[in-house]
Amino acid sequence: QAKNRGRDRWDAVDTGLRKAAAERLDLESQLRAAITDGELELHFQPIVGLLGRNVIGREALVRWRHPQRGLMPPITFLPVAEESGLIVELGTWVLRAAVQAAASSPHPGYVAVNVSPNQMIRPGLADQVEKALAESGLPAGQLVLELTESVMLSAAPSARQEIERLHGIGVRIVVDDFGTGFSALSYLRDLPVSGIKVDRSFTSGLGEDPQCDRIVEALIGLGHGLGIDVIVEGVETEAQSALLAGIGVEHAQGYLFGKPSPRYELLTA
Ligand code: C2E
Ligand code: MG
Ligand code: MG
Ligand code: MG
Repeated sequence: QAKNRGRDRWDAVDTGLRKAAAERLDLESQLRAAITDGELELHFQPIVGLLGRNVIGREALVRWRHPQRGLMPPITFLPVAEESGLIVELGTWVLRAAVQAAASSPHPGYVAVNVSPNQMIRPGLADQVEKALAESGLPAGQLVLELTESVMLSAAPSARQEIERLHGIGVRIVVDDFGTGFSALSYLRDLPVSGIKVDRSFTSGLGEDPQCDRIVEALIGLGHGLGIDVIVEGVETEAQSALLAGIGVEHAQGYLFGKPSPRYELLTA
């Protein structure tokens, strides 16, 4: 009797796992098709000068317009893309679409494209970027690539070479989610980094948690000391904005200035 109950329970777990695995495979094959069938789209969020609230650039953020599930945020499908290797195709699509959108817009400012660690495992990013820029006519100076700390640190010689080459053609590199990854900062010295984006987990506590204030101040000091741009992410309130302006932050991004929107042109926050 007890033994049977135990087996039933294991069968249930097994069925659950099978179902999860099947769903994941399903999502993977759907995503593969979505990339070629045009179900991906980019939304753009402004990055502004904190004082004038002028748009200096726009970050491209990918979404999947799923025929049944509606608009899916990246958290729901990027992990699958990463694990399956589809991130390379997806990344290529994002890069071309973002560069194209920027090139065909009359609005000045750069476009920032997120690059995931797995896109840097194989060489070829710099070639891809050069191709996308040439196809679209966008000047290299108007493209920013957002790389995470883990990429900067992984320090595979091939990734370093790609980063150096990108810098060489005039594409800027910023470090995304700065402060959340590793405490190692050596890459700021040996890689051509033009800016850091302070993660929004620090922004949310500004003005409420003195520790957050001190950390953000220290990151500003670090950035300015190294002569690189500091962009603070996730600014949602006027109070945060005023506080940041007070400690010398020049550039910021967040719902206060504009949410991600499918229309590149609407973003004149
Ligand atoms: P991220 O690069 O740090 O992008 C910022 C994320 O914070 C975006 O979420 C944005 O919508 C959200 N955000 C911006 N301002 C605020 C704010 O004031 N408050 C709050 N609560 N959130 C804010 P999203 O679009 O869901 O993207 C999540 C992450 O997915 C991105 O984080 C990035 O790591 C990744 N991602 C998005 N698009 C791409 C892509 O095309 N390629 C790759 N490799 N990764 C992408
Ligand atoms: Mg980003
Ligand atoms: Mg970020
Ligand atoms: Mg982030």
